[in-house]
Formats: sequence, structure tokens, C-alpha cells
Amino acid sequence: MKGVVKYALGPDGVALMELPDPTPKEGECLVKVLAAGICASDIHAIKDERSVTMPVALGHEYIGQIVETCGDTGKLKAGDWVVSLPACYSCGSCRECRAGAVTLCRQRKSIGSHRNGAMANYVVVPAKYTWR
Ligand SMILES: [Zn+2]
Ligand SMILES: [Zn+2]
Repeated sequence: MKGVVKYALGPDGVALMELPDPTPKEGECLVKVLAAGICASDIHAIKDERSVTMPVALGHEYIGQIVETCGDTGKLKAGDWVVSLPACYSCGSCRECRAGAVTLCRQRKSIGSHRNGAMANYVVVPAKYTWR
């Protein structure tokens, strides 16, 4: 698949690149991205004003259609149109996570900054933080 990847520091450190096709793991959905918005966070990442784990496909504001699920994904199934919480990979055990405030987790890993995001043909997201 192709994705818009931040791969190096500097203004030329972002490009449309070939990426391996992602595979969902337990509790995750493979989503075909239908549209992805450009957030200020993406601009900050491109300008090196925000740290990201490179290389990473940018984008966390998207709508897509599930094409595959793995394991227990609740009610979500292939064909569903979905959106996800950007900071969808949190530690799950800190005080903030236990209180349900996963976006405040200090170890959160957002799609589009620490995991490949939605400016790509496909994105993998956890069902737990994905909604129809
Ligand atoms: Zn955003
Ligand atoms: Zn946490």
C-alpha cells in the first residue's frame, strides 16, 4: 500500500511511500481508509515541532471501512464504516487509563505519530477505541 510517511527530520522528510500491507492482531481491525483529514498535529509533525516515531504514516482523523477483523472485536465486523480515537494505544494500567481518560495516558501511542496512521490505503486500529 501507499502512505504519506514522515521518515526524517527537515522539510523534505515526508513523502508518499510504499509500505507493507498491515495485518490486524487480536482485537484489531484492518480498515480501508476512505478519507483522512489534515490535523494541526500532522503539520506540527511535518515541521518537526512535535516528536513522532519515524518512519510513520501520518494521519489520525479518518473515516474508513473495516475489511478484516482479528479475534474479539465486539460488534465491529467487515463492512462497517468506522472512526477511531487517535490515541488508541494507551498503557491500560496507569491511573488515567483506569479512570477511562486514555487520551491523558503518558505512554499513549497515537496512530499517525507513533503507529502508522490513516494517510495510507489501510490503517490498523484497536476495536476497543473504534466506533461505527
Ligand atoms: Zn487531530
Ligand atoms: Zn495509561
